[in-house]
Amino acid sequence: MTSMHTSTLPTADDLRDRVRAALQAIGAHTALGEPGGPGLPASTPVTGDVLFAVPESTREDADAAITDAARAFQTWRVTPAPVRGALVSRLGELLVEHKADLATIVTAEAGKITSEALGEVQEMIDICQFAVGLSRQLYGKTIASERPGHRLMETWHPLGVVGVITAFNFPVAVWAWNTAVALVCGNTVVWKPSELTPLTAVACQALIERAADDVGAPRDVSRLVQGAREIGELLVDDPRVALVSATGSVRMGRQVGPRVAARFGKALLELGGNNAAIVTPSADLDLAVRGIVFSAAGTAGQRCTTMRRVIAHRSVVDTVIERVASAYRSLPVGDPSADGTLVGPLIHERSHRDMVAALDRARADGGEVTGGERVDLGEGAYYVRPAVVRMPGQTAVVHDETFAPILYVLTYDDLDEAIALNNAVPQGLSSAIFTTDMREAERFMAADGSDCGIANVNIGTSGAEIGGAFGGEKQTGGGRESGSDSWKAYMRRATNTVNYSSELPLAQGVTFG
Ligand code: NAD
Repeated sequence: MTSMHTSTLPTADDLRDRVRAALQAIGAHTALGEPGGPGLPASTPVTGDVLFAVPESTREDADAAITDAARAFQTWRVTPAPVRGALVSRLGELLVEHKADLATIVTAEAGKITSEALGEVQEMIDICQFAVGLSRQLYGKTIASERPGHRLMETWHPLGVVGVITAFNFPVAVWAWNTAVALVCGNTVVWKPSELTPLTAVACQALIERAADDVGAPRDVSRLVQGAREIGELLVDDPRVALVSATGSVRMGRQVGPRVAARFGKALLELGGNNAAIVTPSADLDLAVRGIVFSAAGTAGQRCTTMRRVIAHRSVVDTVIERVASAYRSLPVGDPSADGTLVGPLIHERSHRDMVAALDRARADGGEVTGGERVDLGEGAYYVRPAVVRMPGQTAVVHDETFAPILYVLTYDDLDEAIALNNAVPQGLSSAIFTTDMREAERFMAADGSDCGIANVNIGTSGAEIGGAFGGEKQTGGGRESGSDSWKAYMRRATNTVNYSSELPLAQGVTFG
């Protein structure tokens, strides 16, 4: 970590060429229009330019996509699960083949540094492998019956069409988490990606269609609709969409959750986070500072699991602030595709405005801000140096998720106070403790410890593996995706009682007639 920022940015034409070449290699044939033409403007945060216009779905297109997916469901649900797994297996192979191509588009469209963009595609490959294994492990239980000559068991069945709505900051992985698992479970999928990342969606759709063709599966098992919130709302309100899996802000979840519930549909919500790490007196500070800097500054603070708060013991707080601030000063900020860059751009101007406003509020509350200034690399692009803010206490601004690299540092004296601070925000996604004291670590993970869906020890708040269930509590929405038994959210459970005797005993000893 030496240079301050990487020098020049690629031109919009460079980026256009890179994206075009990657889409061509992937085999995407969607006709892209000129910037300013009809369709969704596909812009790049790298320079702030519009690269292409991407065909936008109409209401009729969305309706047709749901109709097609519902029709495909009729055959897909009775296709044996391991055969369904073959489709996901092929998708995984194509992702391995096109890992660099897809990562190039992720970098151009979401501004992720190359290593993180490649990591995001690797996450897709990992979930495909997980889902293929899962396709032979959709187990139900056999339960001891209280009646002689009876068998009691559970069977799991697909739900129907799964509507997947995704956020800009994980433009490909979240689709894959949902789609790989939903497909092996026997569902079909209609995806509405973020309107900020339509190009990555075009690439993913091309890959799933190729995979379907290669294994002889119907293409309609996975459909794409492109557009803003209004197109998402069609999935939310359509009774043919059995499950709406929506990833994005708490604001979006507040709109989507009640609407899906009103029609008794199922919702899986993966919403905003406000993630903290506690740094205790016994912490290995070298490890803690590395973990904090990656989680707080990585992806320019634009992960749902980004570390937004450090709760440091009074005996170590000065050292933590000094070391994080010093690391921040030397983080290379700039072109996310350049070697060595660690902090790429914010997604758009509004993110920068939100960051400036949050820092102003923090200052007004008595916060001491280090960093946070704009790195001027071009008019339409918003690069910033990550900010670390020593706060006198947990004021209102600290309760908000500002989707930018701001790390608030709070001070504590005893562990109960630190855990209370960790839990004092409305969101409940990820959390961490840095400690070498086993009692502190166990307490943090206990019932009266962190109230988050993810509670880590000696590791930052971001960068989860796909093997675990991913998601959070409170305003984060309560959903779980990816590994462990998250697949159960994509299926319905039937309880079956089979009487293989010649009697008809009633449960609970009831007699009737
Ligand atoms: P956003 O809420 O603005 O948009 C997310 C998606 O929801 C987009 O596709 C958008 O078009 C759609 N949408 C918005 N309102 C809708 C409505 N009423 N009906 C249907 N669809 C609607 O979020 P964003 O700015 O793209 O992403 C950043 C946010 O996402 C952050 O809050 C971040 O923490 C969160 N996020 C959460 C997770 C997680 O797994 N918990 C993962 C990634 C991002």
